[in-house]
Amino acid sequence: MPKNLVIVESPAKAKTISKFLGKDFQVESCYGHIKDLPKNKLGVDIKNNFKPTYEIIPGKKKIVGRLKKLSQKTEQVYLATDLDREGETISWHLSQELNHKRAVRIIFNQITKKAIQDAVKNPGQINLNKVEAQQGRRILDRLVGYKISPLLWEKVRRGLSAGRVQSVAVKLICEREKEIEEFVPQEYWTILAEFALQRGKNLLEARLVQIEEEKAKIAGEAQARELAQKIKDEKYFIKELREEERRKFPHPPFTTSTLQQAAGSRLRLSAVRTMRIAQDLYEGQEIGEEGRVGLITYMRTDSVRVSREAQEEAREYLKREFGEDFLPPKIPYYKNKKSSQDAHEAIRPTSIWRTPEKVKGYLSRDHFKLYELIWRRFLASQMPEMVLRVITVDIQGGSYLFKAEGKRVEFPGFTLVYKERGEEEKILPPLKQGMDLKLKQITSRQHFTQPPPRYTEATLVKVLEEKGIGRPSTYAPIISTIKGRGYVRWEKGKLVPTSLGRVVNELLTRNFSTILNTGFTARMEEGLDVVEQGGEKWTALIGEFYEHFEKDLKKAERKMRDIKKEGLKVGKVKCEKCGGEMVLKFGRYGEFLVCPKCKNTVSPVKSTGIKCPLPNCDGEIVEKLSRKGELFYGCSKFPQCKFTSLYKPLNERCPHCDNPYLVIIKGKLTCPKCKGKVEDYLTEDLKLGDVLYRIARKRVREDEVAK
Ligand SMILES: [Zn+2]
Ligand SMILES: [Zn+2]
Ligand SMILES: [Zn+2]
Repeated sequence: MPKNLVIVESPAKAKTISKFLGKDFQVESCYGHIKDLPKNKLGVDIKNNFKPTYEIIPGKKKIVGRLKKLSQKTEQVYLATDLDREGETISWHLSQELNHKRAVRIIFNQITKKAIQDAVKNPGQINLNKVEAQQGRRILDRLVGYKISPLLWEKVRRGLSAGRVQSVAVKLICEREKEIEEFVPQEYWTILAEFALQRGKNLLEARLVQIEEEKAKIAGEAQARELAQKIKDEKYFIKELREEERRKFPHPPFTTSTLQQAAGSRLRLSAVRTMRIAQDLYEGQEIGEEGRVGLITYMRTDSVRVSREAQEEAREYLKREFGEDFLPPKIPYYKNKKSSQDAHEAIRPTSIWRTPEKVKGYLSRDHFKLYELIWRRFLASQMPEMVLRVITVDIQGGSYLFKAEGKRVEFPGFTLVYKERGEEEKILPPLKQGMDLKLKQITSRQHFTQPPPRYTEATLVKVLEEKGIGRPSTYAPIISTIKGRGYVRWEKGKLVPTSLGRVVNELLTRNFSTILNTGFTARMEEGLDVVEQGGEKWTALIGEFYEHFEKDLKKAERKMRDIKKEGLKVGKVKCEKCGGEMVLKFGRYGEFLVCPKCKNTVSPVKSTGIKCPLPNCDGEIVEKLSRKGELFYGCSKFPQCKFTSLYKPLNERCPHCDNPYLVIIKGKLTCPKCKGKVEDYLTEDLKLGDVLYRIARKRVREDEVAK
């Protein structure tokens, strides 16, 4: 029997660590949390200062028993769970259950030979402040979940649940949806001009920015045409030529939130999947001859700090691979936000020498892509900034001012390894101040203002972080919970609230306005941070919370609307049998419309205001949900009319095959029949003297596509 027992929370991590510790150490896994609040009762004694009752999780008794037996035969126990609050709490629960007289805590933020051996040489004690902060969160969430959920069962549907932070996330998504629904697109036009240089064939494209020293505002086509008439008559010259240097600095290395955002937008990975893969990379992968090793530092962090060793290593790499020019004279320093834990580090590769090329053959495609992203982002953060030369050209003719901009990369800096949008060069022809220009073409283009976009997972994580209502360990679970509970639907990469989500959100925000308020939730999260730093007891924090909560709860029990009984008014849908006004209710198998008078029930539909495109049908296109809960479009005259489409049909004929409608797929107008792409704009070319005048009109006017 080895002298030492090391306990971690996952078998993959155990496997990597055991390789670094030799035969005197046995490494075992406890498979996550071993104790929690009981499942079938509140487990919090509210009258007794919120004293919690923790129990061994059912199904974990065997593992705990086995670890206890093993520990009794060893001299020393090392508790080596992850270094955040959750990990600290697992270690605390283990120490309680094993009750070993020589149990110590070791922490490390990367699983490499050196890090593990150093950690074993420098053991410490369990940080009870961290445990307290975790308990505080657990109990807050428990109170909200266990007290509000039964109300929802009674008033809306059995089996529903509420969550403290999740409900705030749903609220953000519902609020955004409302903004989108209420948004009225405004039409506006822009004017572009193409000028010829007097000598040579070079053309210069510029946009109209000012008319008589006022910002150019063009509301409609008539005004655009009128302007074009006047613009064509003026003489143009380069009034001013400005050159300036612009420096673009690299981003700091990844935190949990920025990693989830970048993986979402660049690799199309969900937050949950990103964290799963990052955990695999952290816990260890087999890398050929080197064997098993952790490839990245701990993935739940809000710190951008980088260890000195890692920075030195990156500089060594840059010097050797890129040369002295790519070594910033000063080592970059990234400042953390006030709330973050400076003891933690950013997410970075455990060694910069394990380049993406070297590990590619040993990783799955997604693991490789994520590793490469982390590796590049970290290396870029240690590189010098990009230097751009930006040239702005003011072109004047009469009272019209046009502007053109050119961009040249003088030094690529970090963009050699980490590309970002807006870095493309735009080279202008050689120009001089005072130079005369000849107008060749005017283009008027129609636009519409756009509503704010729906959230993606990436943008939701961003806003949760900005508003201070998430933490590295909670972003991904929040998103998977709100989807799992049916409050939010996933539609073409965007988060859309379901009717159920909107109803529950309305009931909760109306009845629990204080505790489900963004500011209050952010304050609670800050409070937990203070608890972690030892500045406050969690009981004080929960005391403050419960005072508000209890008041709201008592009122809600009496006043919350009873959707189960009344149903929800959804506008004017008439009962086909008796003409009564149908209301929406929620059942075990989804939502349905019911007539309060004769109890007639039908599936709900949402009108779109778009005419059914099939010939000889005067039905209207309606939104429906398939049995799997996916959105599709059908005809209000179903079952007589069998029209269906996965995408919203637009009343616009296909210019290629004359199909009566088009759809938008990935932001592009597309014909569902011939699959042909259709230009967003219809253009008309006119002559104004010897100037070409092009009018570009939107094929589908946004202000006419009913919501
Ligand atoms: Zn009826
Ligand atoms: Zn139809
Ligand atoms: Zn077509």
